[in-house]
Amino acid sequence: MKKHNFYAGPSILPQEAIDETIKALQNFAGTGLTLASVSHRSKEFDAVMNDAVAMFKELLDIPEGYSVLFLGGGASTQFAMIPYNLMKKKAMYINTGTWATKAIKEAKMFGEIIEIKDDDFFSIPKGYDIPDDIDYLHITTNNTIYGTELLEDLDVNVPLVADMSSDIFSRKIDISKYAIIYGGAQKNLAPAGVTFVIIKNDILGKTDRKIPSMLNYQTHIDKNSMFNTPPVIPVFTALQTLKWIKANGGVAGMNKRNTEKADTLYNEIERNKLFKGTVAKEDRSIMNICFIMNDEYKELESQFGEFAASKGMIGIKGHRSVGGFRASIYNAMSIDSINALVDVMKEFEEKN
Ligand SMILES: *Cc1c(COP(=O)(O)O)cnc(C)c1O
Repeated sequence: MKKHNFYAGPSILPQEAIDETIKALQNFAGTGLTLASVSHRSKEFDAVMNDAVAMFKELLDIPEGYSVLFLGGGASTQFAMIPYNLMKKKAMYINTGTWATKAIKEAKMFGEIIEIKDDDFFSIPKGYDIPDDIDYLHITTNNTIYGTELLEDLDVNVPLVADMSSDIFSRKIDISKYAIIYGGAQKNLAPAGVTFVIIKNDILGKTDRKIPSMLNYQTHIDKNSMFNTPPVIPVFTALQTLKWIKANGGVAGMNKRNTEKADTLYNEIERNKLFKGTVAKEDRSIMNICFIMNDEYKELESQFGEFAASKGMIGIKGHRSVGGFRASIYNAMSIDSINALVDVMKEFEEKN
């Protein structure tokens, strides 16, 4: 039976990216050596790093004056690196869920935080004022756990920093509006172990704080992400994913595919008498689709989970802090998997 991978992260990657990685683990770039054992200073790996940076810039249309970095430590290390490098006194954070909450916790160690938050995380705060004396504004564009997403680029007069761990390459973004965009790669790009950072070079050097080398963006900009040993295998896979995105219509192609996938699934959640969505319609994510049983059918929740699993639907259980169900339908997922899930939802409705 075909398995459909709805895990939230680590999660589905293009089959081509996996296949190319397997080949490189056997014989990397004609070296006769495995990718796992080749020097990151070799000319063959240097080319991988340079190509990955170049493809990032090409696919996202990154303007001059920005650097692309591939680091270790996950998005969670960025939660601390951002205030470490940017905070003079005060920053503003839009708290849209668990990840933003964690980012705020780190930032509070470096300065004053103005926090904007709705009563719950089922919608994205709107209509707040942004003071112009803050060092930066931090947002999380896609809330992987709650299934809300900000689908536009904010227009603000302060440096804008965005956690795009779970929606990078899913839609076109105007990079020039951002000072930093970062994310763990394990949602839409590569196996766990590499973190991408897109950074506007002139945003740095504004605090007189001493910053440890590894946590200083300038170190990694100066050394082209090779100050220390980069996560070689995930960087290689990331490059293969980028090639796959390019071959499939680029970011615009991804967005078309993702919108169709999300619409198909949300339409079924609305139509099916057993289920309902959990978030405000205008803030619904096109990456993580959360739903629960309708009130009259609450007792069927675990039964549906088992039924779906028996049909090859893997990883649709909601995050432990939210419950219900969550289908993560990242770039690499095809519409066939969405249709298969919709069929399972219909079949379960007919049975009940
Ligand atoms: C998964 C996730 C993170 C955490 O990433 P790590 O690489 O595990 O540190 C942060 N932010 C968002 C939006 C995520 O989805």
